[in-house]
Amino acid sequence: MHELAVAQRLVAMIVEEAVRSQAHKIERVRLRLGHLSHVEPSSLELSFAAASRGTLADGAELQIERTSGAARCLLCGAQTVVARHGAACSACGECALLVEGGEELRLVSLEVS
Ligand SMILES: [Zn+2]
Repeated sequence: MHELAVAQRLVAMIVEEAVRSQAHKIERVRLRLGHLSHVEPSSLELSFAAASRGTLADGAELQIERTSGAARCLLCGAQTVVARHGAACSACGECALLVEGGEELRLVSLEVS
């Protein structure tokens, strides 16, 4: 399961960060997740709960901010918001979009105690 691998990497990263700042517990984790990132937020939450069990991140609140997919049309140059890969340009209708944003999965902030 893809989300579990993502969650395990995330937990490893934030635990390392928490240990470095000599924290005892991770309280809250904020992530930015693009609509085109191939990660399902609800299954990431479940995977995060499983992957963090017994670590400093156990019981931490996971907050996920969604960002929309941004693309530029190679034919007409229009900038458009897309919900999925392979979408058509909203201006000319051609499927010639170059994705410029919305694929990210980024750690925004970490609250520890
Ligand atoms: Zn176009």
